[in-house]
Amino acid sequence: MTGHDRLMADRYEAARLDALRRLNLLDTSPSEAFDRITRLASQIFGLPVSAVSLTDHDRQWFKSRVGVAHQSIPRDKAPCAAVAESTAPLVVPDLSADRRYATSILVDQGVRFYAGAPLTTRDGYGLGALCVLGPEPRSATDAEMASLNDLAEMVMTQIELTHAMGRIDPLSGLPNRTQFLEDLEDLARDTPGARRLAVLVDLARADQLDNGVRALGSAYIDTLVQEGARVLRAKLGSKRTAYHVASTKFVFLAPPEVDERSYRGQLESLLLRLAKGPETKFGLSGMIGVAPFIVGESTPNDVLRLAYSASLDACNFEPAISFYSCTEDSAHRRRFTLLEDFGVALKARAQLRLVYQPRVDLASRRCLGAEALLRWDHPTLGEVSPAEFIPIIEQTSLARPTTAKVLDAGLAQLGAWLASGMPMRLSINVSAANLDECDFAQRLQLGLLKHRVPPDTFEIELTESAVMENKARSLSQLAAIEAAGIAIAIDDFGTGQSSLAYLQQLPARVVKIDQSFIRRLTEGEREQTLVCSMISLSHDLGYRVVAEGVETAEAADLLCEMGCDEAQGYFFARPMEVGEFERWYATQAAARAAA
Ligand code: C2E
Ligand code: MG
Ligand code: MG
Repeated sequence: MTGHDRLMADRYEAARLDALRRLNLLDTSPSEAFDRITRLASQIFGLPVSAVSLTDHDRQWFKSRVGVAHQSIPRDKAPCAAVAESTAPLVVPDLSADRRYATSILVDQGVRFYAGAPLTTRDGYGLGALCVLGPEPRSATDAEMASLNDLAEMVMTQIELTHAMGRIDPLSGLPNRTQFLEDLEDLARDTPGARRLAVLVDLARADQLDNGVRALGSAYIDTLVQEGARVLRAKLGSKRTAYHVASTKFVFLAPPEVDERSYRGQLESLLLRLAKGPETKFGLSGMIGVAPFIVGESTPNDVLRLAYSASLDACNFEPAISFYSCTEDSAHRRRFTLLEDFGVALKARAQLRLVYQPRVDLASRRCLGAEALLRWDHPTLGEVSPAEFIPIIEQTSLARPTTAKVLDAGLAQLGAWLASGMPMRLSINVSAANLDECDFAQRLQLGLLKHRVPPDTFEIELTESAVMENKARSLSQLAAIEAAGIAIAIDDFGTGQSSLAYLQQLPARVVKIDQSFIRRLTEGEREQTLVCSMISLSHDLGYRVVAEGVETAEAADLLCEMGCDEAQGYFFARPMEVGEFERWYATQAAARAAA
């Protein structure tokens, strides 16, 4: 054999083994469907031993056997291996008289006669043989060999059927997700480097399906899916395949070489066609997500995931078609990672901590207290800003344990400061979800007791939108908190949609004017008038006013002139670690004493 021949042979063997492995037959349990065929083979030859023998890397493994004790024998010197390699039938009248097999394990065990018919896949790979063995030398008639070949083909049909079973969705009759993933792997072998589009079609949104099922029962989805599958089959024709990858989701590949822009038109007409089905009278809206990918570069699972991710974004567009975008996907993934990891961070000791930003009396420039701000040192991403992670976790069940942790750590610190003689106040930020806890006010009070903190040194900050989310519930919770003597501040004031008339009903005592107004303060007269009237209006309604985000002396002076009570911002100090905050505080106090 030349080097080139050897290389080709090795390649063929690798592909052959791959074909065998993908059928998932090796080391599976015996099945009557195969045993029936082996029994028949043994009867036709009038011989005691017969087997469906598959040629693995270094063994012949028997999927079915009559009269054999072993589950497998070594591949070396096994005649079935020769049948698999040549994909041609083989008769050896006397193994002991054949140079190739004289020293084989079969001869050792008293076998003389061998006849085998190849088990060949549709692609031409030899998987192994259907064989019969006898203890005496003999020959095989043409009729016997013809039967053996027929039976071998029946074995192959059986193998293909078994294989197809787990790959066709019984409802739609379309190949399923497993098949899609496998076909993409095949594609990676056939046309690596080609640029293709994976198209995911979702027939309806989850809430629409729920409504349909509520009105018509679960058979509703079955009909919808069958109709959808029919439309897709008709649209794609016989040469291309749609795969049924999840309940109402289908995926297919756009033809090679399509232009993305012109293809969009075809997808639009597909959406229209799907919307015309008889099941769509309940106003279903289908969605299409498209993921461009390079064959062989993205894993099949990724291709599916990206197309799915695009389809989720599609509901924001009209028509509902979205091409996968790298940035959107990585944003989604980051959100997901943060959410998952924050759960861990809450339990871990070292990842979360509080920093403290001074709140300063504008007239005297004296520090009145601090706002506690959460910091997250993520093990791999480093410092993640609360502006990023708080909005993500606020919508989940993590909001409550987060506030609980901040509350406990903040009050412990405030308690320690008060005990050391520092006249401090502290505010912490709480989420809308906290107002849904029926015992939130009590838990605040318990926290105060635990850390020996008087209620009038403590404040909670809530954004306008948090309060507006559930007005009725918020009002009763806030009333209880206020009754306990804890001050309530409205954070980011001016950014929400709330009317002053409504805010006025809240038992809040403090408004914190959002930084966006303060930042523009030195830009012009209009901006100043706006802030000035926010301050005087708040005062008229009885609020104490805090300006957030004061970055310059000019802004601080202006605000002081306008009568603003307090300020917070980088001009005075950034949020600081505990030790740093204490040193800053001491320096300030010393300077004032000296003056
Ligand atoms: P916030 O409550 O309005 O906090 C003020 C934010 O403005 C803080 O950002 C602070 O570092 C920043 N800041 C203060 N002075 C200046 C300034 O002069 N210039 C500028 N550009 N920024 C300034 P941070 O710490 O990144 O927090 C962002 C938001 O995350 C907070 O806004 C708050 O809504 C939320 N947050 C922080 N910690 C917690 C927490 O423990 N629980 C909850 N529920 N939310 C929190
Ligand atoms: Mg705040
Ligand atoms: Mg704020």
